[in-house]
Amino acid sequence: MLNATMLLNAMLTPAVLIRLVDQQWCVLAQNQLATDKWGAFAESELTQMIEALELCWYEGKSTERRRMDYSGETQFINAVFSPVSLNDGRAILLHTVPVSADRLRLPISERDNLATRFNLVVAGSKGGIYDWNIVEDQVYWSDRMKAILGASSYQFLGTAEAFWERVHPEDSVMVDDALQGHLVHCWPFDVECRVRTDAGYYVWINVTGQAVWDEAGRATRLAGSVVDITDRKRAQMEIQEREKLIESILDALPLNVVVKDAHGCIRFFNEQAEKTTGTLREQAIGRTDFEIFPPQVAMKNMLDDMRLRKDGGTIILEENIQKDHADVWLLAGKKMLTYHPAGGQVESWILGFSIDITDRKLSEIALLAAKETAENAVRAKSDFLSTMSHEIRTPLNSVIGTASLLMDSHLDAEQRVYVGLVKQSGEHLLGLINDILDFSKLEAGKMLVEREPFRVSGQLALVSTILSSQLAAKGLTLKSHISSKVPDVVYGDAHKLRQVLLNLASNAIKFTSHGDVRFDVVLDRHANTGFPMMCFSVSDTGIGIPADKIGLLFNEFSQVDASTTRKFGGTGLGLAICKKLVGIMGGDIGVTSEHGLGSRFWFTIPLEAADAALLEPQVVINNNQKAQLPLSILVAEDNPSNQLLIRAILSKLGHKVAIAKNGLEVVEMAQQSRYHLILMDMQMPEMDGLEATRTIRALGGIYHDLPIIALTANALEGDKGRVLEAGMNDYLSKPIDIVKLKDALLRWSD
Ligand code: ADP
Repeated sequence: MLNATMLLNAMLTPAVLIRLVDQQWCVLAQNQLATDKWGAFAESELTQMIEALELCWYEGKSTERRRMDYSGETQFINAVFSPVSLNDGRAILLHTVPVSADRLRLPISERDNLATRFNLVVAGSKGGIYDWNIVEDQVYWSDRMKAILGASSYQFLGTAEAFWERVHPEDSVMVDDALQGHLVHCWPFDVECRVRTDAGYYVWINVTGQAVWDEAGRATRLAGSVVDITDRKRAQMEIQEREKLIESILDALPLNVVVKDAHGCIRFFNEQAEKTTGTLREQAIGRTDFEIFPPQVAMKNMLDDMRLRKDGGTIILEENIQKDHADVWLLAGKKMLTYHPAGGQVESWILGFSIDITDRKLSEIALLAAKETAENAVRAKSDFLSTMSHEIRTPLNSVIGTASLLMDSHLDAEQRVYVGLVKQSGEHLLGLINDILDFSKLEAGKMLVEREPFRVSGQLALVSTILSSQLAAKGLTLKSHISSKVPDVVYGDAHKLRQVLLNLASNAIKFTSHGDVRFDVVLDRHANTGFPMMCFSVSDTGIGIPADKIGLLFNEFSQVDASTTRKFGGTGLGLAICKKLVGIMGGDIGVTSEHGLGSRFWFTIPLEAADAALLEPQVVINNNQKAQLPLSILVAEDNPSNQLLIRAILSKLGHKVAIAKNGLEVVEMAQQSRYHLILMDMQMPEMDGLEATRTIRALGGIYHDLPIIALTANALEGDKGRVLEAGMNDYLSKPIDIVKLKDALLRWSD
């Protein structure tokens, strides 16, 4: 450790030692040169330097002030504050480098002198100057250089060794290589390294130099400059640290981040991008997509980049790439960045970011596949049901039709009862099949809602007529009331409305033994949207429903109790169908009931008033009116018992009948004889009814207008549209309703 006297005596410039005592700066000692120059250094003069001193004290750094005021006068000195460790503690050494003020006042003539000019340049230079006599190992260091390292140690700097031992161990090899490169190969000598100051800390310097060689090619001298670049280095390091921080933030994100420059070269590639693409950062940086990705991926990227450069904004898209022979899905985004390189032109770079959504995508695909499988299963079930129902309905139609024919023949009372039973059971079975088919169509989403104008009162009247025999059988009355606020003509699906009303009213009749059944229609509003709705209700005075069973009623196959089926029949499907039908029409359904007193089933459907003028004129069925007799009718029907039945019905109505067994036959027979009308089955071998109709229509001439009426057990939604599209004129469903058949014959026989 030094003591104050030793230190001050070693100084060749005015020097003062200062210490912080009780928060006050005070002068510890000063050398003779300082006393000669300034006299006693007044402590009050220190106040002006406090900022520099404190920085120096707390941070242990050398600080410099160029301009100082002391003894009431402004003078120019080069002052250096250096923290020093003395035997008795820390102190600040304030020492000066002799300057300038008097030298600046040198006469111009003297300045012309080369040596003076050199001195002036050296004194005015921000950097230090050195001149190394390599042969004698003597180094001249300018004062500035000594100031950088701490002036007190200038005597140690007279040799190159004195410099080398201060170079940071991590930098010495690099500095030596650069020096040898210059001395041996004449490469430019320009290095940045750290050197230790007297105070023990390191400063960054930039050393440049130029050697002189003798005739033998040996370097004899090296002169150059040394600049303190600590501040610049610190700023640079700060920028580097900040860059590293940003990079580690971007690396920590679960996002792939890639930045491309104006030429499409990758400039940034984060850790996540390495993991996702399997490409290392070193392989990606500085390369284009074409150098690291498969051509089709690179081409797509390039097209996206071009689109972005043209349209601007942000592109968001889903990408599929291959990694380790597996699909990887990315949700990717691209955006333009503006980059302004120092001293260069503004450039447009592209920021690309993406996130791996493979897991989500795979579950989406699995869900889609599951949905498709489920839909296929539902479709298969629905197709199976539709085929089965067709197969069951065909013989059933024969049973019901034959029973109807028999009922019209001469039967004794007992026979009539039996035949009536056969007919009734057949009709019941048909009802069940229709329910199951309806339900499966609704489940498969195959039921479409029509929008046609109809009369609300007309539908209620029709339902009452249909139910009249059931009502009469139980001695019940049916009352209807439609609020005057409900428009009579509305748009909607009259068929589905009727189906729901019939279902609810049949239940009401079924579960009521005395009293009445009542229809009410009032105006209502949708609970959420406020849209006008019609509210239909069917009330009865029947057995009612226990409160704990009400919640289950609209589920398929649910009945209040098992005895219901035994006592009243039914499948438990009716209300489930009603719920689905009302749902697809856009309404709600519900029930209020009191066990033992009766029930009130209600449902709503959207109200859309229509103009009465839009209604199709009603066809007045006049049973007395007879179709022109006898009509010559060609019937296409493949099923023998149905052939028998239809022949019997038509003959009974007084018409002449010819039967074709399939579509081909009907086309042939239609050309061989003249017929007034064709009744066409849909499903037939060889050629189906639709194809046969198209073929007949294609014959042109009289075949263009020959009435063709579809007769089918196929009750699928959209069948009516398909038969009309194929060129048929009308549609009758099986089992054959004799009234409707007569009406159709009347209509199409003109
Ligand atoms: P189904 O009548 O064919 O059994 P539904 O779905 O139409 O099937 O009815 C389900 C059950 O709801 C019936 O079995 C019956 O228990 C009960 N239910 C329906 N309507 C009424 C009603 N008006 N009064 C009493 N119970 C009813």
